[in-house]
Amino acid sequence: MNESTNFLKDRIKSDVESGLCKKVITRFPPEPNAYLHIGHARALVTDFEMANMFGGYTNLRFDDTNPAKEDSEFVDAIIKDIEWLGFHPANIFYGSDYFDKQYELAIKLIKKGLAYVDDLTPEQMVEYRGDFNNPGKESPWRNRSVEENLELFENMKNGMYKEGEKTLRAKIDMSSPNINMRDPVFYRILNIKHHRQGNKWCIYPMYDFAHPIQDSIEGITHSLCSLEYDNHRPLYDWVIEKCEMVNVPKQIEFGRLNITNTIMSKRYLRQLVESGKVTGYDDPRMPTLVGLRRRGYTANAIKKFINDAGLSRTNITVDSSNLDSCLREDLKLSTNRIMAVKNPLKVTITNYPSEEVEYVDCLNNQENPELGSRKIAFGKHIYIEQDDFVLEKPNKHYKRLALGLEVRLMHAYFIKANEVKFDDNGNIVEVLCTYDVKTKSGTGFDERKPNGTIHFVEATTARKAKFNMFEPLITNDDDSLDITERVNPNSWNVLEGFVENYDNNFNVEDKFQFVRDGYYCCDKESNNDMLVFNCIVPLKSSIK
Ligand code: ATP
Ligand code: MG
Repeated sequence: MNESTNFLKDRIKSDVESGLCKKVITRFPPEPNAYLHIGHARALVTDFEMANMFGGYTNLRFDDTNPAKEDSEFVDAIIKDIEWLGFHPANIFYGSDYFDKQYELAIKLIKKGLAYVDDLTPEQMVEYRGDFNNPGKESPWRNRSVEENLELFENMKNGMYKEGEKTLRAKIDMSSPNINMRDPVFYRILNIKHHRQGNKWCIYPMYDFAHPIQDSIEGITHSLCSLEYDNHRPLYDWVIEKCEMVNVPKQIEFGRLNITNTIMSKRYLRQLVESGKVTGYDDPRMPTLVGLRRRGYTANAIKKFINDAGLSRTNITVDSSNLDSCLREDLKLSTNRIMAVKNPLKVTITNYPSEEVEYVDCLNNQENPELGSRKIAFGKHIYIEQDDFVLEKPNKHYKRLALGLEVRLMHAYFIKANEVKFDDNGNIVEVLCTYDVKTKSGTGFDERKPNGTIHFVEATTARKAKFNMFEPLITNDDDSLDITERVNPNSWNVLEGFVENYDNNFNVEDKFQFVRDGYYCCDKESNNDMLVFNCIVPLKSSIK
C-alpha cells in the first residue's frame, strides 16, 4: 500500500498500539444487488490489507437487508470475483442471519424509550424531517407509551399493516444539525420474499440500524467505508451505545476511487445491461470485475493500480492510462509473444521451392527465456498487415515493405517485394515477393540491412481469428442524458484476420502479446473454426 498517503494505516496502528484492539478485524459488506466493479476493488484492497497488516482477518458480509433488489445470482458472482482478485475471506456471513437478534435489540430500544412506531406516511416524513436550514418537526406519534409501541411493533412483524403504513423510528433529536440523527427509520414494512429468509419477515431493518449491529456481533474492530457515510457515524455510534453492544467497532471513512472514462455507479451499470446496450455484466467494455477479467485485465494489475493511487480521506479521480501502464507492466514478462495479423494482405513467396511449410524455432518471450520456445511455420503463402506495405517508400522513416524493397520477416527470412496484384477496384490484393534463403533468422547474416522488420503468419497453418478492439464505453459527459444515450457507438469494433497456430493451444483467458501490436486475451466466444481475442491494451506507440 502507498506508504505516504495511507492515513488509515496510521489511525489503525495507533489503536493497536494503545491496546484498543489486539488484532484488526474488518469486513467487506457488498449489497448483493449487482456485480462488483473496480471501485469495489478499492474497498476490498483496503479491508484485506489492513487486516493482514495487523494480524487479523476479513469477513465477507452480504448486506442483504433490502430484499427488493437482491438476488443469489449476485451472491455467487461476488464470491467468485473476490477469489479471483486473490482475497480469501475468513468467513462468509449474511446480514439477514442477524434479523432475530436485531428484532430483539429493537424491542430493547423501545423498552428504553428510545424507539417508537410512527404512522406518518413516507411523504409526511419527508416534510417533517426539515432540511439543512430548518429543524425537523416531531411526529404526533412520537410520544406513544412503551406498551403501545411494543404492541404495534409486534403487529408490524406479524403482517397486520400495509407497506408504508407504519415504521419503527429511533427517538433521537428532530432538531439535530445532522439530518441522519432526526429520528431515523430503523424498520419498514416490505411484503417481499427474501432471497434467504423467504417469507419469514415482512419488516426489514434499515442500513443505519443493521450495519453497526452486524459489525459488533462479528467482532469487527474497524468498519471501513467510503466517505459518504461520514455523517452517519454519529448514528452508528448511537446504535452501538444504546443497544449496549459488547464489542465496540470503530467506523473510519476513506475516499472513493473514480477513474476517468469509467462509470462506477451500480445503477448505471444495471441500466446498460437491462437496456441491452452492452452484452451483459461481463461485456468486456464494462468496469465490472467480470467484464475486466473477460477483457483480460489481471488481478495483479488492478491491485497495483489501486495501491499506486493511494488512499486518502478525499474522493479521487485517477487517469485510466495509469491502469493501462499497470497492465503492460504485469503482462510484459508473463505473456508469450506471438504473431497475429488483423488486416491481412496476401503475400506469395514466388521462389519458395515447395508447397510444404518449414518450422523455425523461436523464444516465446525474448525478455523472459523461462517461458520456453516454440516453432513458427513459414512457407510460400503468408499474410502480413496491410499497413506494412505501400507501393512506394514515402520517406526515410518508413521502415516496412514497399515495391523493390527488402524487409526482415520476424523469426524467418528477408523478403523483397517485386510485383503487386490489384482487384477490379484497384485495391492491392496480393504482393509477390522473393526470399533469400541465406538470411534465415539466427544464422547471423549481416551482409545487407533490410528496410525494417515486420511480422507475418503462415497462411495454410494460421488460425482464423476475430479481434475485438475497444474504446471507452461512455465518452459523452452530458449528465442530463440517460446513460443508455451516452454509449460510445465506436466502443467495440471487430476485425477479422489470422493468428499463428501457437502450439494449437488457445484457452479462454489465455493472454498473449501480439508482437508490434498489443496484449490480447482469448475470449469465451472462441471455437475451433474461429478464435476470438479481446484487446486488453495496446503496446505503447513508441514500441511499435
Ligand atoms: P450503492 O451506493 O449503489 O449501494 P455501493 O457502490 O456503495 O453502491 P456496495 O455494494 O454497498 O455498493 O459496496 C460495498 C463497499 O464498496 C462499500 O463499503 C462501498 O463504500 C465500497 N465502494 C463502492 N464503490 C467504491 C469506490 N468507487 N471507491 C471506494 N469504495 C467503494
Ligand atoms: Mg452502498
